[in-house]
Amino acid sequence: MPTRCAGCGAVFPDMEGPTHAYMQSSPACFAAFTKLLAAEYSSAALRSVHRLTVDTWAVQHPGSAEDRRAIQSVGLHLARLMLQLERPGSPMQTNAVMLDFSHYKGTLRRLAPPEAFRVTVAEVVDFAGTPSHADKVRQWAETTWEGYAEHHEYIRRWIDDGPDEGRSSKGCE
Ligand SMILES: [Zn+2]
Repeated sequence: MPTRCAGCGAVFPDMEGPTHAYMQSSPACFAAFTKLLAAEYSSAALRSVHRLTVDTWAVQHPGSAEDRRAIQSVGLHLARLMLQLERPGSPMQTNAVMLDFSHYKGTLRRLAPPEAFRVTVAEVVDFAGTPSHADKVRQWAETTWEGYAEHHEYIRRWIDDGPDEGRSSKGCE
C-alpha cells in the first residue's frame, strides 16, 4: 500500500524500517534518503552535493513543533542551505560557519514549513549514483529553499546578526 510521508509528502510503497529520532518521516522516505547518502559517500564527485542532500531532507522533515531539537534542526539546516545556495564557499568554510551557528541555535524560533514541497526525495532517489544525481539534488534543494520563502529574511538576519543576539539572550532559555 502506498504511504504518504508525514514530513515531505512523498508517496512510497509501505515498508517497515528505521526512521530518524526527531526528523519524522515514513520508513520508506528515510530509506530513500539513506540511499542517496550511500551513493554520495561512495563517490568523490558527489561529495559536493552531500550537504545539500542532508540539509534539504532535514528541512522537509520538521518533526514536532514541541520538540526543541527539531526546531533547532530546521533553523540550522535552513541556514546552511541558504549559505550554500546564496553564498557558496568551500565546504570547510560552510562547516566553520555552522559550528559557530550551533553555539547560538537556542535563539532559533520555530519556522513553519510550507504546505507542500514541489520536489521531494521521491523525485531524486531513482537517480542515486547516476550522472544526474547532483543536478537532481540541486533542483530539490533550490525548490525547497524557495518553498521556505516566507522565512528567508528571518534566516538571513539570524545568520548576519545571530551571534550578538545569541550572546545577549544567553541564560534566558
Ligand atoms: Zn519524507
